[in-house]
Amino acid sequence: MSATIPREHEPTEVVDVATSAVATGVARHEPVLEIEGFSVDYGAGASMVRAVDEVTLRLDRSRVLGIAGESGSGKSTLVYAMTRLLRAPGLISGGRVLLHTTDDDGVVTPVNLVEASESELRKVRWSHVSIVLQSALSALNPVLRIGREFDEVLKTHRKDMTKAQRRARAVELLRLVGLTEDRLDRYPHELSGGQRQRVMIAVALALDPELVIMDEPTTALDVVTQREIISELATLRARFGFAMIFITHDLSLLVELADEIAVMYAGSIVERAGARELYEAPRHPYTLGLLHSFPPLHGERRELTGIPGSPPDLADPPAGCRFAPRCTFAMARCLTERPTLREFGDEGRSVACWLFDPASASRVPVELSLAPSARQTVGEP
Ligand code: SF4
Repeated sequence: MSATIPREHEPTEVVDVATSAVATGVARHEPVLEIEGFSVDYGAGASMVRAVDEVTLRLDRSRVLGIAGESGSGKSTLVYAMTRLLRAPGLISGGRVLLHTTDDDGVVTPVNLVEASESELRKVRWSHVSIVLQSALSALNPVLRIGREFDEVLKTHRKDMTKAQRRARAVELLRLVGLTEDRLDRYPHELSGGQRQRVMIAVALALDPELVIMDEPTTALDVVTQREIISELATLRARFGFAMIFITHDLSLLVELADEIAVMYAGSIVERAGARELYEAPRHPYTLGLLHSFPPLHGERRELTGIPGSPPDLADPPAGCRFAPRCTFAMARCLTERPTLREFGDEGRSVACWLFDPASASRVPVELSLAPSARQTVGEP
């Protein structure tokens, strides 16, 4: 009988999950990450721009948090800064980021990434938190074969592994994402965009991290490959139990994968809710606009209206609500007072919008829908 050769893009069940988060029985409602009042600036003095403005978020173990927003909303700056990968002139100007790391004995130790030394950061990166960058082509070294990418990570963090064991682990990881062993001997340019992104995901999982951050990993890919990778990520998450932050500008993609979604606009969270709740009943007008900017992956066709106007210049943001110049629901109050994120309803949802302020109770709409004026304005050349 001939051996079964795994086909490309059909993930196989070969990795030992004994050390995975699921196997160690982690409690789902324990936090793996707590971000409190976190701010990031670019530049200083009069030219300072606040790209992330006092963001507070919590992510529990084994959960997927989607962060959505247009380009420049601060979502990528947030994750690069909190993992201390942000380069100058970006500067953390406030807050803390607690990563709750678990050792081999199950002891949980919070590490404040904002204050961690370089050696502490080296210990937590890859082992406890890993990140998949937006462009696999630039993330993978073009002059190294794929096998070396795995080898370098394993050699650095698992010094007890032999070369043969590292190779075997790399093969296991590749199979997890539906790639065959022969890819280890290829260079990045010999792989398709989807295959390169799968390699990056496999490398990110090499040390069974508790948290995996994905920064728009499917943006450059065609829709079919996007769907395949999202589906594979959902399977991997369910199997290994790692928590995930998935960043994208496409809200409809997040509904496939995320448990909760935080929507960012001009450096702040403007809405946070369960993924399904947010998708089916968006509260913040910006969330509604985002949902009408991309075609849904499933279900009925939807009118694509986009969002009129452009994001504000963060060097000189509007005085009140930063979305007011683009918002078809704006009231007088919105032009002078900035709304803060506050809980709305009993479904664990938070919204930063005066429409949902108790003082404006008579204005609270049960369901938002795009005003006719917006329909006529957006999407026109
Ligand atoms: Fe629109 Fe006002 Fe809500 Fe801002 S606060 S999103 S301007 S309704």
